[in-house]
Amino acid sequence: MSEEGYDHTAVERRWQEAWAEADAYRTPDDAEDPTYVLGMFPYPSGKLHMGHVRNYTITDAYARYRRMRGDDVLHPMGWDSFGLPAENAAKERDSNPRDWTMDCIDTMRGQMEAMGFGYDWDREITTCEPEYYRWNQWLFQQFHEEGLVERRAAEVNWCPSCETVLADEQVEGEDEHCWRCDTLVEQRELDQWTLGITAYADELRSAIDDLEGWPDSVREMQRNWIGKQEGSRVEFRVENHGPVEAFTTRLDTIYGATFFALAPDHPISEELAAEDDDIRHFVEEVADPDGDEPNGIETGLTATNPATGEEVPVFVADFVLSDVGTGALMGVPGHDERDHAFAERMGVDIVPVVAPESDGDAEPEIPDVSEGASTEDGVVVNSGEYDGLSSAEAREALTTDIDSAAFHTQYRLRDWLISRQRYWGTPIPVIHCDDCGPVMVPEEDLPVELPEFVNTTGNPLDAATEWKHTTCPDCGADAVRETDTMDTFVDSSWYFLRYVSPDLDDAPFDVERANDWMPVDQYVGGLEHAVMHLLYARFATKAIADMDMLEHREPFTNLLGQGMVQLEGEKMSKSKGNTVSPQRIVDEYGADTARLFMMQAARPDTAFDWSEEGVKSTHRFLGRLAETVRSFAGNDAGAGADPDDADPAARYVRSEVDAAVAVATENFDDLGFDLATREAQQLVGTLRSYRAYVDEVHAPTFERGLEAAIKLLAPVAPHLTEELYAELTAGDGLLVDADWQTADADLEEVDKRRQLVENTREDVRNIVDVAGIEDPERVDVVVAPEWKHEALAIAVDSDAPNLVGELMQKPEIQRHGSAASDYAKDLQAEREALRLTLAPEREREALEAAAWLIEREFEAPVRVLSAEEADDAVANKAEPGRPAIDIAE
Ligand SMILES: [Zn+2]
Ligand SMILES: [Zn+2]
Repeated sequence: MSEEGYDHTAVERRWQEAWAEADAYRTPDDAEDPTYVLGMFPYPSGKLHMGHVRNYTITDAYARYRRMRGDDVLHPMGWDSFGLPAENAAKERDSNPRDWTMDCIDTMRGQMEAMGFGYDWDREITTCEPEYYRWNQWLFQQFHEEGLVERRAAEVNWCPSCETVLADEQVEGEDEHCWRCDTLVEQRELDQWTLGITAYADELRSAIDDLEGWPDSVREMQRNWIGKQEGSRVEFRVENHGPVEAFTTRLDTIYGATFFALAPDHPISEELAAEDDDIRHFVEEVADPDGDEPNGIETGLTATNPATGEEVPVFVADFVLSDVGTGALMGVPGHDERDHAFAERMGVDIVPVVAPESDGDAEPEIPDVSEGASTEDGVVVNSGEYDGLSSAEAREALTTDIDSAAFHTQYRLRDWLISRQRYWGTPIPVIHCDDCGPVMVPEEDLPVELPEFVNTTGNPLDAATEWKHTTCPDCGADAVRETDTMDTFVDSSWYFLRYVSPDLDDAPFDVERANDWMPVDQYVGGLEHAVMHLLYARFATKAIADMDMLEHREPFTNLLGQGMVQLEGEKMSKSKGNTVSPQRIVDEYGADTARLFMMQAARPDTAFDWSEEGVKSTHRFLGRLAETVRSFAGNDAGAGADPDDADPAARYVRSEVDAAVAVATENFDDLGFDLATREAQQLVGTLRSYRAYVDEVHAPTFERGLEAAIKLLAPVAPHLTEELYAELTAGDGLLVDADWQTADADLEEVDKRRQLVENTREDVRNIVDVAGIEDPERVDVVVAPEWKHEALAIAVDSDAPNLVGELMQKPEIQRHGSAASDYAKDLQAEREALRLTLAPEREREALEAAAWLIEREFEAPVRVLSAEEADDAVANKAEPGRPAIDIAE
């Protein structure tokens, strides 16, 4: 073993076994409100990738930190193990999804153990096990009783050759062909199960404002997804068909509504299509809601604009969607871009009815809308008695005045369609009876377990004949099981509750304990696809709370979205072939190196580039740490030295230990692992410099510094620090259970002191460099006189336009003559950037304590002098926070 290396394989295995033996990560059921730290559970897809390693290092480091701070911690892990990829992998390997999934789980669990992630494995959950998914079925039935489950017709992708429904992911290419047989995919209407998330749209939207521990970007994505729109409903009377309701956020523009449009599947459109070949052709062949251009066809009917009484043409148009709003809209081409494009194509009138706000009493200037719509609010014009009102006033007045109009709030959010025509998911617990219709499977018959996998091109559950045929629970007649399974997002919408009591077999979770342990204090995961998961989890929590099973209405108090791990600026991905194998890094450098490298590379929520050089450098650092501790622990010279009998260098080291502990602790609280570990690494550097400078280290100081460095690194590099802690403390308990250290340090003061020392060293370096001094004989560091500190303090506070004048009025400054006016001018020039520095005595103390660093670097004695002790020529250059330097050759 080289001086700077260590046997990471042996060290890591030894402590993983010790932790397991000590049950170090178990959360007892009687723990009181433990800190709940959770990483999004993985899909068991084969092996851990770097994204997993980053995700779980973040939660593990935070969980370890909280545990050392004295918290009870709940840090569980499980498997989001249903889903299409397992089904595909099984087909490719002529195996079955279950065996493939269980193999993946074994591999990934082993890798997590090798990474040293401290999970309470007694709480492991696996969603593809009947012990878990029976509670999906149970919750589905509870939701059904609450009126939150509906069965309704929905469009699905259908391959006519395979005679099966395809998931969106199974439809490929621009032409939308089947992934298996290349046949063009058709749309079919099938009855599908939905969960009533829209009943919670308002609460899901408004409660986002209180999620202060969530990133703003995620909160905004959720708001947009829910898509709250406030507006009005209003009826247009359609010739021969009576009143038809439309929704608009811009009732202020109703005088400019020059056409009316219906969705292709609006009941009136369907009625017209049955009678008219052209309309049927349009509805069946032409209409393309996803297309770039708005298409439509004239019906020959008119509708009465309820504000103007005018008749406007009625179209069937494909940009009107029946599942958003009412399936009908009033077209205002002057003030809506899409309506404008449509009106231009169809030759409909375009009338401006809102003008930009004008200044003062000037008449509003009517905008030219012939080339494009004017979409901003403004002042209403061309609108009869409403002319002159602001858009907001007009909306209010028109909604009140028009008989059929009423205020209405609408959401973009749709109900959650959970039916999947796949095998590897939770069977929907329903039996279809010819006489009784869909009937819920009785609670005592749960779980409905998956039958053996059938390798078929169609839906395997449909092909599982024996499983499928059963009897109706209501009437006893022959009946068939529902062959759809649940969207796997159902599994992950409540899994965080199951960890609380994973083995409970008469309820999904222990209510009392969940009330105590929830919500999750810190949730961490990738956010690329997390909007839906997070929304579904919030919905499930609220729905469960409304069933009186939970006192909490939000599942996650704090959310961190981890950044990507990149290689040369690109996201690592299997398909691009630019991945780095965590296994290789663990084998070559150890788990501690991988973990520490990742955490120091960047803040957890930002992307960073993988660097082999960085990994090596982290590995070398851990080797140096080991060497520093071992050479001290193995040599008890200086033991028992008086703690107060310390030289200035030791005093400096002590203050740096306090500073490192205080700064790192603050950063750990904030999940700023990059800054926290940097403190620890710099502290180790300081200890090594100190050891090199003195013949014999001041043992109590050095030991305290080593212990601090070990503890600060323990959350991130747990194995080596555990080993070194055992050596340093001669086996006095496990580090994983040890108490965090505290330090009394004023962070602002620390910052000023470090800046001062850094500036001073930098200045000495520059002078030596510029003057070409090869072998300095002595370095004098001259601190600024007290009056300059006073002047600076005045300048920082002052808002007088003439700062020089203000300063020179003070006798204690003025009496320093031209030195005073020069300094006052300097302060005036740098006014914007001025900030307070250490007080004069503190500045001198700090420099005396740090003098050894300069002595060591330049191999010359250093004197710290007051301005009075130095030559005027030198002393005049000294400023607060920036001492003057005089170097003798
Ligand atoms: Zn096909
Ligand atoms: Zn029946």
